[in-house]
Amino acid sequence: MYDAIIVGAGITGLSSAYHIKMRNPDARILVIDRYGTFSQGNTGRSAAGFRDFFSSRLNYILSASSISFYKHVQEDLKYDLGMIFNGYLFLLDKEYDKNDLLKYKHARIIEDDISDIFNMKNDNDLMNVASIKTAILSENAGIIEPDKLSSFYYKKLLEMNVDFMFRTEVKRLILSPRRPLDYAGEPFIWQDKYISGIETDHGIINGDTIILCSDVWTPLITDPLGIDSYIKPKKRQVFQISGPEIEKIIRMDRFTDTNVFPFTVFPSGSYIRPVPDNSSFWAGVADNTGRPFKLDDDPRAEIDFYNYNIKPIFDLYFPATRSSKVTTMWAGHYAYNTIDYTPYVFRNMNLIIVSGTSGSGIMKGDSIGRSVAAIYMHDKYVDLSEGRIDINDLSPLRTPQREEIVL
Ligand SMILES: Cc1cc2nc3c(=O)[nH]c(=O)nc-3n(C[C@H](O)[C@H](O)[C@H](O)COP(=O)(O)OP(=O)(O)OC[C@H]3O[C@@H](n4cnc5c(N)ncnc54)[C@H](O)[C@@H]3O)c2cc1C
Repeated sequence: MYDAIIVGAGITGLSSAYHIKMRNPDARILVIDRYGTFSQGNTGRSAAGFRDFFSSRLNYILSASSISFYKHVQEDLKYDLGMIFNGYLFLLDKEYDKNDLLKYKHARIIEDDISDIFNMKNDNDLMNVASIKTAILSENAGIIEPDKLSSFYYKKLLEMNVDFMFRTEVKRLILSPRRPLDYAGEPFIWQDKYISGIETDHGIINGDTIILCSDVWTPLITDPLGIDSYIKPKKRQVFQISGPEIEKIIRMDRFTDTNVFPFTVFPSGSYIRPVPDNSSFWAGVADNTGRPFKLDDDPRAEIDFYNYNIKPIFDLYFPATRSSKVTTMWAGHYAYNTIDYTPYVFRNMNLIIVSGTSGSGIMKGDSIGRSVAAIYMHDKYVDLSEGRIDINDLSPLRTPQREEIVL
């Protein structure tokens, strides 16, 4: 019998286990995953950029607080997370009012001429492409390595005697009456119910609290019980591109003092994420209309998607990529909260559900774990380093504040 069973050993499951255990050293905690080790789901397929540049206050606090914890882990605790503050450069095809920017901490308009790096003048009606009018650098932002970040939590959890069961699939949640009558058909609608445990392919395991950090797969677990997890899955792809011109610019010190080219977002939403260790960029885009909400068993990246959707944009705006080649590619899924693109962390009976990370779960991972721990402890608020969040604001019952900056 466990105090808490966490389904999912990705970043949100690991950080949830860590923060529950930090606050309850005696708690017996089990983390279960169907893969052979931790972070083999979307955490391991992420582009792993981080930024605190969000339009909603909630997303800002979740992200900025996680960034500050990750920085502490790397700089003070001396765990290398591969975290580099090379910034996010947003290239926009519209003028940006400087007063609008004041609401964003750690962001500034780039006033210098950057036309030697980017093609600023473009006017292609067919492709809906226009000239770059503003460049904004989000400075509390950059890249991180999810495997190193996950290893930090995993090692800590082993030291704290948290149990792991890998290669174990959760088949269903067991809904039971609190006061059983031993009568066929229980639980009846008038009985007080709870989740008494989980059925896995290795048998039944009982726990006082069940925590679902199972990302895009959560509806497969909750839907059969009529419990909503409020997410839709959508395939997302990453293409690694390499070439001599990329090698020349990747170690650029023009924007930050890190000597690494910024994570750069083009007007269409296409982005490049530098991989300085192998002189490449990862490229991607969050395509919306036309791409189905669908969960693939084995999602694969589509080279034609890169060639016909992403490359033409780079060819116009970013000469350094013209001679590049795709050297590897992969795909995963975003778990979209389609209402406001902001995570939900909420309780239903003795079940705690994390959902709707919407493509930014790495950069919010630590705060999500702290939020799970706060809900586990029945707190009213979660106090994060960059602000206090009312637990109700993490629930699907909140008044939505739709996030505008989703990549
Ligand atoms: C292409 C791509 C690019 C991305 N880029 C970024 C980025 O730049 N920055 C950022 O912050 N985020 C990014 N994300 C999003 C980020 O990767 C996710 O938000 C984050 O990894 C979610 O973490 P998680 O722990 O909730 O889920 P996951 O890492 O997916 O973990 C869920 C785990 O649950 C397990 N599981 C599910 N169901 C069961 C079951 N029934 N039984 C047993 N185990 C089960 C799975 O095996 C899996 O390991 C990106 C995602 C993708 C796909």
